[in-house]
Amino acid sequence: MSMIETAGVCKTFHGSNGRGPLEVLKNVSLTVEPKEVVCIIGPSGAGKSTYLRTLNRLETIDEGRIYIEDNLLFDCHRGVNSVKMHNDERNKILLEVGMVFQRFNLFPHKTALENVMLAPLNVRKFPFEEAREKSVQILERVGLADKIDTFPSQLSGGQQQRVAIARALAMEPRIMLFDEPTSALDPELVGEVLAVMKKLASAGMTMLVVSHEMGFAREVASRVVFMFEGSILEIGTPEKMFSSPENDRTRQFLQSVL
Ligand code: ADP
Ligand code: MG
Repeated sequence: MSMIETAGVCKTFHGSNGRGPLEVLKNVSLTVEPKEVVCIIGPSGAGKSTYLRTLNRLETIDEGRIYIEDNLLFDCHRGVNSVKMHNDERNKILLEVGMVFQRFNLFPHKTALENVMLAPLNVRKFPFEEAREKSVQILERVGLADKIDTFPSQLSGGQQQRVAIARALAMEPRIMLFDEPTSALDPELVGEVLAVMKKLASAGMTMLVVSHEMGFAREVASRVVFMFEGSILEIGTPEKMFSSPENDRTRQFLQSVL
């Protein structure tokens, strides 16, 4: 069983700015196996965020197929999905996919613990005590046992992002998507978030990570994907990608960031 499979995914934005249509994903095919950590790299505007968002239904697709844990959720042609599935069923499958964004978007008037408890209570419908216990445990896992009653404004960016990771984990996803989780952080706070992600990876979480942290990719990634102008140009092991990339664009990009 693969955790995520996309085949021939295409997406065009029809410009609200009068600049006409913009083809953002061009025939993107990628399969992520259980426990893999796949890092997506590539220049700004390559379509990395859009691609992640299509996996979580935050973005629709025009063409292609999306499978989550071998369940075909979307088989689209000209924007029309031919998969007949009840919304509840699709939502249930999509609960397996957690996502962490560049901006943490915590609820400011709720404590760390309350932020993490929201989904177990409201979506998973756990009883209060169970949701609380589970959420405390998860906050411990991300190193925030001493911050459970703290409000986001009193947490550092790194701590806030760890709460955001805990919030996603509270849904008990089997796949985690990360979209530049450290790029809004001060440099000295990046390490603590990457450390939590490394721990998740060692615990066997399947992860798809968009990041400019090449050290993380080199150390943790099973495979690295290079995206450019809406296409995957190259996929390889970190050793291969960082030492002898085959594509000129990959080489140019790596030279500019390393
Ligand atoms: P990346 O994450 O690789 O930087 P994105 O997926 O965010 O790239 O964006 C790819 C392209 O799609 C960019 O040119 C961006 O401006 C455009 N884009 C993203 N979201 C929208 C949208 N909702 N409407 C129109 N254009 C968009
Ligand atoms: Mg992006």
